[in-house]
Amino acid sequence: MTNIRIGNGYDIHKLVEGRPLILGGIEISHTVGLLGHSDADVLTHAIMDAMLGALSLGDIGLYFPPTDPQWAGANSLRLLEQVDGLVRSRGWKIGNIDSVIVAERPKLKPHIKTMQEKLAGVLSLNPDRVSIKATTNEQLGPVGREEGIAAYSVVLLILEQ
Ligand code: MG
Repeated sequence: MTNIRIGNGYDIHKLVEGRPLILGGIEISHTVGLLGHSDADVLTHAIMDAMLGALSLGDIGLYFPPTDPQWAGANSLRLLEQVDGLVRSRGWKIGNIDSVIVAERPKLKPHIKTMQEKLAGVLSLNPDRVSIKATTNEQLGPVGREEGIAAYSVVLLILEQ
């Protein structure tokens, strides 16, 4: 019987004026923020999609549709708790998460540890199981022009014995 599963997730949101920049559950000081129905936390969204993908449970749009007013302005960490509950209720736990945030600005390195601790706290994991990396897009494409921020994540799930 297979006792490990892997999932990947991707998300991108537009950067606009007048919105806070929320990444990995924390607010980061910047001149622009991400636009979305929820708090538009691309990293948390990519992680949720990877968790759901590992179990072939669809994507976050299925559980938290952008047309549903109850998710307007939602704190994505609360959505992550729900996805984690779904995974755990099926007998699976997270082995590890590896993620990349692609952003031209601001510099994310000083915030990585705080994001790791925040997400690990919500998922009841040791922070060393929640890897977050950041890179720029070398000024290429929409992310390179600072029109948006993207995130990729891979999650390994382990079946609890
Ligand atoms: Mg999203």
